[in-house]
Amino acid sequence: MIRVGQGYDIHKLVEGRSLFIGGVHIPSPKGAEAHSDGDALLHALMDALLGALALGDIGSHFPPSDNQWKDVDSRELLGKVLKMVQIRGYKVGNVDCTVILEDPKLGTLKGDMARVIAADLQIPQERLSVKAKTKEGVGATGRGEAVEALVTLLLVKDQPQ
Ligand code: MG
Repeated sequence: MIRVGQGYDIHKLVEGRSLFIGGVHIPSPKGAEAHSDGDALLHALMDALLGALALGDIGSHFPPSDNQWKDVDSRELLGKVLKMVQIRGYKVGNVDCTVILEDPKLGTLKGDMARVIAADLQIPQERLSVKAKTKEGVGATGRGEAVEALVTLLLVKDQPQ
């Protein structure tokens, strides 16, 4: 049994905040405006995991109105979501991620993100892809006002022994 999931997130970029993408700190004068750490890629990833099993979205599991999630490390939430997947007998097959950020260019940081996410998902890095794009100056994200992320993944049900 396989299930596909997709996730998307966007966060506004503002001065005076740290920027985290895929669990990695990105040197940047601006960071994501958010109730949590604002990690758009991990948020999209969690929505893809939840979506694959029709378990709602991160807003329903970790509502911003609940202060226990204020400034929370998204990797901590990802661990909780992965448990929801595993408890239902699924594991992660492969994951394909796209980050859209005008500046700074992510370059080698993509590899750092892939290492962090693959480790957190307990999969070999060869099954996880992190790509980066810009918006070629178009729209709010193109003006450097936001970061966006998209994730598509496959979940595979463990075969009964
Ligand atoms: Mg978010």
